[in-house]
Amino acid sequence: MVQVRLLPTPVQAATLEATLCACNEAAGWASEVVFEKDVKRNFALREHTYTEIKARWNLGAQAVQHVIKKVCDAYATLKANLKAGNLGKPGSKRYRRAMEKPIAFRAQGAQPYDDRMLSWQIAERRVSIWTTGGRVKDVAFTASPEQLATLALYRKGESDLVCRDGMWFVLATCEVPEAALNTDPVDFLGVDLGIVNIATTSDGEIMAGRELNRIRTRERTLRTKLQKKNTPSAKRRLKKRRRKEARRAKDINHKIAKHLVAEAERTGRGIALEDLTGIRERVRLRKPQRATHSSWSFAQLGQFIAYKARRAGGPVVYVDPAYTSRTCAECGHIDRANRVSQAWFVCRSCGFVDHADRNGSRNIRARAWELWRRGAQSTAPAPPPKPKVGAGRKRSITASDARCASPGP
Ligand SMILES: [Zn+2]
Repeated sequence: MVQVRLLPTPVQAATLEATLCACNEAAGWASEVVFEKDVKRNFALREHTYTEIKARWNLGAQAVQHVIKKVCDAYATLKANLKAGNLGKPGSKRYRRAMEKPIAFRAQGAQPYDDRMLSWQIAERRVSIWTTGGRVKDVAFTASPEQLATLALYRKGESDLVCRDGMWFVLATCEVPEAALNTDPVDFLGVDLGIVNIATTSDGEIMAGRELNRIRTRERTLRTKLQKKNTPSAKRRLKKRRRKEARRAKDINHKIAKHLVAEAERTGRGIALEDLTGIRERVRLRKPQRATHSSWSFAQLGQFIAYKARRAGGPVVYVDPAYTSRTCAECGHIDRANRVSQAWFVCRSCGFVDHADRNGSRNIRARAWELWRRGAQSTAPAPPPKPKVGAGRKRSITASDARCASPGP
C-alpha cells in the first residue's frame, strides 16, 4: 500500500468532495435497502439499487458497482465481527445496536477506484480521476522517489480516495514481491528500543531521540489543557491533534524501520530486536516517563521492521530482553549497578564504559547471533495479529469503523 497526498486546486478539491459525498450518500441509501430487504449479496443488491443510484447520484457505471460492493463488504465485515464476538454476545447492548439499524457511511468515507476511474501519470506526479463533475485531469500529488518507484513497478488493482482532516490522499495497492531470505547473514544489527531514544543500534546510531521527546512532551501538555476545557470545540481540537500526533508517530516509525532495514541489508546483516511483548512490564520508570513511553507504539515499529525486512529478505530475530540493560557487552558481567544513569553504562567488573542504550543493543546483537548459530533462528515472522478483525488490506472495515465506513490507512 502506497499512500500519496493529492494537491488538488481549490476547484478540484470541491469536485472531489462532492464526489465522495455523492458516493457515500448512495452507499447509505443502498445500505438501507440491504437492511429493509435483507439482500446482502452483490448481485441481488445490484438488481435493487443499480439503476436508481446511477440516476439519482449521477454516478458512472464503475462507481455504482464500487459503491454496491463497498456496502456488501461492510455488511460481510459486520457479520464476521458479530460471529467472532467482537461486538459482545448476542443480545448484548453493542450487539443489538449494531443490528438494529443500517450501516451508516460518513460523507467523507473512503471510496474505491479502479484503473478505469483513476489513471496515473507517475513521472509527472499527476492523477486523472473520475468525479461526479466529469473526469478531472492533472491532479498533482506528492510522493518520495521510493514511493514513485514502487508505484511504477508494482501498483496493481484498486486505490482508495480518502479525505482526512481536509487533506486528500490516494492509497494505492502495490504488490511488492518478497525477496528470497538471506539465510547466511554475516552478523546482526542489534536494536535497543527505549524511552529517551526510541531506537539505538549496536553500531551506536541513535534514532528519534531528545528532539522528538521535546515535541511529544509539548503535545502532551497541550492535550491535557484541552482535556480540562471539555467544551465541544476543545474536544474537536483534541481529536484532531491526537490524529495528527498518531500520523506523525507512524511516519517516524516508518522512517526508523526503513533506515534500519536498509542499513542491515547494505551490510548483509540480519536485524535483532527485543521480544516486544513484554516491553511495558519490563521497564520500570518514574511517572512522567511512563506516560511518554507507553504512548509510543513500539508494537507498530516492530511490525514495520518485520514487514520491511521480509520484503528485503533479511532475517529478523527476537531475543529475550531480560537484563540487556544491566549486562556488560564486553565481559558479560550482570549487575544492576552497571547502569549508572539513564544515559550511561559503567561495568563494575571490567570498567567498560558505554552509552547505555548502545550497550543494550550490543547485547541484543550478541544474543541474536548466538540464537542464529545454534540454529534456533526465527525468520521474519508475519506481523502479530492486529486486535481488530479485518484490519488488513482487504476492504478493511471493522465493525465500529463500518459505522462510518472509513478504512484505516
Ligand atoms: Zn564488563
